[in-house]
Amino acid sequence: MDPLRSALTEHFGFDDFRPGQRPVVEAILEGKPTVAVMPTGSGKSLCFQLPALQLDGVALVVSPLISLMKDQVDGLRARGIRAAYVNSTQHPGEQQQVLEAAASGELDLLYVAPERFRFDRAMAVLRELTVSLFVVDEAHCISKWGHDFRPDYRALGPAVEALGSPPVAAFTATATPEVQRDIVTHLGMRDPYVNVSGFMRENLHLGVVPIRKMVEKEEHMVSLLRDAGGSAIVYCATRRHCEEVAASLRRRRIVASAYHAGLDDETRREVQDGFVNGDAPVICATNAFGMGIDKGDVRAVVHYDLPGSVEAYYQEIGRAGRDGETSRCVLLFTYADTRIHEFFISRAGEGLPPDEQAAVMEQERLKLRGMVSYAYEEGCRHSAILRYFGDRFVVGPEGCG
Ligand code: ADP
Ligand code: MG
Repeated sequence: MDPLRSALTEHFGFDDFRPGQRPVVEAILEGKPTVAVMPTGSGKSLCFQLPALQLDGVALVVSPLISLMKDQVDGLRARGIRAAYVNSTQHPGEQQQVLEAAASGELDLLYVAPERFRFDRAMAVLRELTVSLFVVDEAHCISKWGHDFRPDYRALGPAVEALGSPPVAAFTATATPEVQRDIVTHLGMRDPYVNVSGFMRENLHLGVVPIRKMVEKEEHMVSLLRDAGGSAIVYCATRRHCEEVAASLRRRRIVASAYHAGLDDETRREVQDGFVNGDAPVICATNAFGMGIDKGDVRAVVHYDLPGSVEAYYQEIGRAGRDGETSRCVLLFTYADTRIHEFFISRAGEGLPPDEQAAVMEQERLKLRGMVSYAYEEGCRHSAILRYFGDRFVVGPEGCG
């Protein structure tokens, strides 16, 4: 067995790399500045955790969510890996202790909340470390074009310089070419290795049904849900559609519930639990639904309304077939559904200065256009999605079958 794979098995207990992981690990080990764009759940953490164990010094990992930071560190420690974090949940004394442990070479990975780099005291200690690698997780947060801009991330470029420019590795699940460029520029990466991979979902059957009359939507939806058996998500663009679609399914004797931001917390939790435990197999939801839902056996994702972007579509269909079994993802498409998005776009970026608002609206319009192109796509839809994200995976001349 090659040494890298042995290390993978020894430290993490995995038999082999997932597609996309190995080239990223190798680039990082060679000291190349690296940007990896891989979907959620594809195993990005491993791509920096494994090199962190192999390189001399401590890897600093910037991560925006304190709760996730703790989970990752707990997981690593359970595997016997020397990891810790510093963030605002700790007393200054505790923070100091962690930093001292890092300074005396007791850590391979140190997770750091982005705002720490603003504090001179923390920076003074960090500057004394031998930093093997500077990891920026959720790197899209650095870009105003991303969906989760965080001003603290803008301080990371200067922090890298202040730390003597160690190699930088940036990770994210979604980054358009524009966001990728922002990541590279703001982190001062020279001649980076960029790897976009893992977007292919072999077990998903992707389809689009052109709809001419609204009544056809219901017919197609009902027959899809009956064929699919098991659990299904029907995505709708508005709260009203969720309620209407759920009601019409119930009239057809399909157990369905609605889920959207207009429901109170308790109702939402009930609906979500009913879906997860299988009592209410069909959920009619806005894009408010799905974050953190861990349900492997979703057999179908039907889009009753058009999503606003390929990014949103990909994320929503990604909730189908997590167990690896065949699942269907069908978009019920009529061009008229772009109107609701035109309305959303007309209100996008409210409160921003006029020129910035215009830029946001233009961006949203481009994304909508990308989604409409997907709907009209005549070739293999998997290929269309991979092309959109810039994934190098090749489906092959015959399509995915
Ligand atoms: P991401 O950050 O890309 O969303 P994570 O790094 O959290 O994903 O990994 C998702 C899951 O995949 C984790 O449970 C992780 O342990 C697992 N995983 C990562 N790499 C492998 C591998 N090579 N083989 C098996 N499981 C893996
Ligand atoms: Mg992650």
